[in-house]
Amino acid sequence: MEKWPIGVFASIDAGLGVHLPVAHELGVSTIQLHAPHRESRTPEHAERFLQLLKKYGIRLTAVFGGFDGESYADIPTVERTVGLVPRETRAERLQEMQQIADFARQLGCPVVALHLGFVPHDRNGQDYREVVEVTRDLCQYVKRHGQSLHLETGQETAQALVQFIDDVGVNNLFVNFDPANMILYGTGEPIAALKLLGSRVRSVHCKDGKWAKNPGNEWGQEVPLGQGDVNIETYLRTLYEIGFDGPLTIEREIPQERERQREEIAGAVQLLRRLKSEII
Ligand code: MG
Repeated sequence: MEKWPIGVFASIDAGLGVHLPVAHELGVSTIQLHAPHRESRTPEHAERFLQLLKKYGIRLTAVFGGFDGESYADIPTVERTVGLVPRETRAERLQEMQQIADFARQLGCPVVALHLGFVPHDRNGQDYREVVEVTRDLCQYVKRHGQSLHLETGQETAQALVQFIDDVGVNNLFVNFDPANMILYGTGEPIAALKLLGSRVRSVHCKDGKWAKNPGNEWGQEVPLGQGDVNIETYLRTLYEIGFDGPLTIEREIPQERERQREEIAGAVQLLRRLKSEII
C-alpha cells in the first residue's frame, strides 16, 4: 500500500469536514469520516456511501464519533461536554459509539476514533477508574468487529495519554495524533509529544495552529497548514522517524467558510505532496 497517502477529514451531514465530492475534487485518495447523524446510520446509507467511495477511488480509513450536546466553545466547556468523560451522558454515548462502530463496520472501516474528553487527572480517583472502564468496554466491543479505537490528542499531555492507554490495558487502543491540538489546548510541544507516543500513533491529522498567550486557559488559533507553530516539515520528518506510514489526513475546521476551507485544504495538499517527495 502507498506510504503516506494524502487524505482529508470529511463529513456527510454532521461534523466539520468537507463533503465527498469536494474530497474528490481535491484529488485525495483517503478520507476520515465524521460519523453522520443517527438517522443516517443505516445499511442503505452505508451502501450508497460505499458506492460513492468506489466511484471516486477513495479509501475510508477512520470513522470519528461525535455526540449531540458537545461544544468546543472554550476549554472549560470542552471539559464539561465532550466525549465519554461527562458522567451524565456516558452510558448513552457509549451505546452510541457502539452504534457508530457498527456503521463503520458496514463501511468496511477498521478504525473508530473519538475525542474521549478531559481524562480526570487523579489516577486513584473513582472518576479516572470509570473512564478507564468505559474505554475498555468500548475497545472490547469494537474488537469483535476487528476494529481499533483511536483517541484524538489534545486534552491530555502525551505522558498522561501513555499512562491512560497502559491503564486501559487492551491491544486495540491507539492514538490519532493531531499536532495542532497540542498547541490549541496548550498540552505540550507537538514534536516531543509525537516522539513520546511513537508506535502508539496509528493515524494522524495534518493541522496547524498558533499558541495562545496563556496556553491551557484559552484557545490557541487554528491556521492553514504551514502557517502555524507546528513546523510541518519537522512533523513529517518525525512521523518518518517513528515509522508511521499511514495516511496524512488534512483537517481544516472552518465549515462556515466552505470556499476558503476548500482553498486552504488545496494548499495543504500541495504542501504535503512537496514535503512527502522530499522526505520519502
Ligand atoms: Mg484533529
